[in-house]
Amino acid sequence: MNFLEERILKDGIVKPGNVLKVDSFLNHQMDIELMDRMGEEFHRRFADKNITKVLTIEASGIAIACSVARCFNVPLVFAKKSKSVNIEGDMYIAEVESFTHKNKNQVIVSKKFLNADDRVLIIDDFLANGCALQGLISITEASGATVEGLGIAIEKGFQIGGQVIRNLGYKLESLAIVDEMNAETGEIKFREQ
Ligand code: 5GP
Repeated sequence: MNFLEERILKDGIVKPGNVLKVDSFLNHQMDIELMDRMGEEFHRRFADKNITKVLTIEASGIAIACSVARCFNVPLVFAKKSKSVNIEGDMYIAEVESFTHKNKNQVIVSKKFLNADDRVLIIDDFLANGCALQGLISITEASGATVEGLGIAIEKGFQIGGQVIRNLGYKLESLAIVDEMNAETGEIKFREQ
């Protein structure tokens, strides 16, 4: 069992509706040492890719992505969520449905910060149905940049996102894959990796 799986077992709380609450170390209060360990682990797993930029989506992905960007010594860009339809300026836009909030947001990245010669590592905290990642992939590809890989802290393996992204041929690395969780007993089972 790796360091993140151990932490999830210690402090994660299974909520009804297939939601894993990790707000004591990742989604509200943040354990920065853990962020740094995750950054180092993603750096190790994508070391053979010549990453020029890390891309994530606000808000919870930013802290992990910061650590990853520091390890690669490249800038971090985060897609901003915006409800407004009239977005001014030169932006890449994707529509993302939120798994936790059940609403739709437009997410935007300024064209200034992604270029055709960028090799992008996409990072997020959770992978459920894959909407957030699909949005970040479409923004990256609209810019002409290359998606070199995707790094996720916690993948919920019983939801469809991971399979969809892997079937599209992307290199997707998740530090913990939850295959089963039970809101009544609190039990969490991880996939052997
Ligand atoms: P997806 O777009 O893959 O359906 O969902 C990914 C996004 O939803 C993540 O960025 C994360 O913020 C949120 N999310 C999905 N499932 C969970 C969950 O079980 N727990 C928490 N805390 N966030 C989740």
